[in-house]
Amino acid sequence: MTKNPLLASLSDCARLLDTGEDWSEAMRCALASVGEATGVSRVWIFQLIHRADDHLIQDHIFEHAATPRWAQLQRNRFRLFRSTFDCPEYQEMVAKRIQGKPVAFRTQDLPLGDLRDDMNSQGILAMATVPIMVGGDWWGTLGLDDCERAVNWSGDDIAYLQTVAGLIAGSIHRERQNALSRQFAVLERSQGGGLWELDLATRRLWCSDTLFTMLGYPPPYAQMNARRLVRHLFADNQPQVMAAVRACLEGRSTGFRMDVKARKLNGEEIWLELITDVTAQTSNHQTSSARDAPQRLAGLVLVASDRKAREQALNEAALTDPLTGLPNRRAFRDTLEQALQLRPDRGALMMLDLDHFKHVNDTLGHGAGDEVLRSMGRLLRASLATDDQVARLGGEEFALYLPGTEWEARRKADLLRRAVEDMTLLLTDLAGEPVPTSLTISIGLAFVRPVSPGQTVAQDLFTRADRALYAAKGRGRNRVVVDSDPTPGQGPVTKDPKLRLAK
Ligand code: GH3
Ligand code: MG
Ligand code: MG
Repeated sequence: MTKNPLLASLSDCARLLDTGEDWSEAMRCALASVGEATGVSRVWIFQLIHRADDHLIQDHIFEHAATPRWAQLQRNRFRLFRSTFDCPEYQEMVAKRIQGKPVAFRTQDLPLGDLRDDMNSQGILAMATVPIMVGGDWWGTLGLDDCERAVNWSGDDIAYLQTVAGLIAGSIHRERQNALSRQFAVLERSQGGGLWELDLATRRLWCSDTLFTMLGYPPPYAQMNARRLVRHLFADNQPQVMAAVRACLEGRSTGFRMDVKARKLNGEEIWLELITDVTAQTSNHQTSSARDAPQRLAGLVLVASDRKAREQALNEAALTDPLTGLPNRRAFRDTLEQALQLRPDRGALMMLDLDHFKHVNDTLGHGAGDEVLRSMGRLLRASLATDDQVARLGGEEFALYLPGTEWEARRKADLLRRAVEDMTLLLTDLAGEPVPTSLTISIGLAFVRPVSPGQTVAQDLFTRADRALYAAKGRGRNRVVVDSDPTPGQGPVTKDPKLRLAK
C-alpha cells in the first residue's frame, strides 16, 4: 500500500497538536508537516485580531516556508496587517471565511483587480485557505501559497486542509482552557479565593473546590445550589446581595463588589468579599455593542476577615486618643450627633479644661503631663453613668455628654470639679523624684436648647459649652459655669489657684 502523504501528515498533526506541551512549537511542526505533505512554497496562519465593518486587522503568527526564499514571516508588511474591503473579490473571500468556508484559486483565474495584483506582487501562483473556527467564530486563517506551480486545488486538498484547521482549532481551544486553569490556579494561590458560576437557564451552580473548602464543605459537594450558598450569608446581608443580583439580572448593572459577613458550615463567622460579574452571550468579534440577555452570573469570593480586622483596628485608631484610650473629638462629634438625633430635647454637654496645665509640663516635664492626662481620663471614665459619653477633645481639654436631667449634669460637674481639686497625684519630675501634685479644672456646661434652622443641636451645644468654659477661666478657674446662668458661675470663690506643688 502506497503511503498517502496527506493522511500521514494528518496523523502527524493530530499527534503534534494533542501533546499540549509547547503549543507554539507544536504549531510550527504541524505547519512543517503540511508543507512537506503538500509540497507548496509556503504554509501560513494569520490570526484575526480585529474585525470592523470596513477593514480587518490580522497578524501573521506562524509560517513554514519550503525554502528561505519564500519566507514572509519576518516581513513588517504582515505584522498586524490591516486590509480594507475595497476590492469585491477580497470582500467575498472575507465573507466566506466568516462563514467558515474555504477559498482556493489560481491567480491567473482571478479577475483583473487589486486581489490579483496583490497575488502577483507576492509571486503567488495559487492559494488555498481555510478559516480556523474556534467556538463558532473565525479565529484565523490557515493558508497555502504556491509560488512555483499554478496548482488546481482538488477537493481532497481542501478536505485535508479543513481537517488540519479543525485540529488546530481544537488545540487552540485546549490551550485556552489550559491558560484559564493556570490563571485560576494562580488566582487561587495568590488570593486564596473561591469561584462560582451560575447558569441562569439551567440554574446549575458550579463552585470551585476552594469555595467549598472556604465554607467548610468537603469538595466537591454535590448538593450546593444558589439558595444554599446565599444562606451562608448573615441574614442582614442577604437582602443587599439579592438586590445587587437582581440589578444584574434585570440589566441595570453589570456586576457588583461588596463585603459581607458569612457563617461557615461549622458556625464560624468570616468576612467575605464578593466580586460578581454577569456574562451575556456575545460573539467574539461582534461589532455592535449590543448585549444579549444575561446568561451566567459568576463570582470570585475572597476571605476578607483579616482585611476587615485591619480596617476595624484602623477605624478604631482613627477614633481613639492613644494617650488616654478615650474617644477623640471626631468620634465624640459622631456619637453626640447620633445621641441627639434620638433624644433632641434633653441632655447636657460639659467641657473640662485643666487649669495651668502647661505649668506641669514646664516644671515636671512632658511625661508627668501625660500622666496627669491619663489620670484625668481614668477619673472621667469612672464617673460615667450608663448613657454618658466621654472624650478627650485635644490637649488638656475633655468633654462629657450627659443625656440625663439638668440637675444631674450640674451635680456631676460640681462633683468632678471637687474630685480633681481633692486629688493628689504622685508625679515624677525630670530627676526621677516623686512630686505629689494637685490640679484644678474649669468646666463649661450647656444644656440642650431648641436651635435656629441651619444649626444642629450638637453644634449649638459645643458653641455654648465652649463659651461657658471660657467664662469659667475668665472668672478665676476651678469653677463650673453654666451657659444659661445669668450670674457668675458656681464653685468656690477662690483666688486663681496656681498649680499647687506640694514639694
Ligand atoms: P489654662 O488654665 O488657661 O487652660 O492654661 P493651660 O496651661 O492649661 O493651657 P494652655 O493652653 O496654655 O496649655 C496647654 C498645654 O497643654 C500646652 C501643651 O503643651 C500641653 N499639652 C497638649 N497636649 C499635651 C499632651 O498630650 N501631653 C502633654 N504632656 N502636654 C500636652
Ligand atoms: Mg488648660
Ligand atoms: Mg486648653
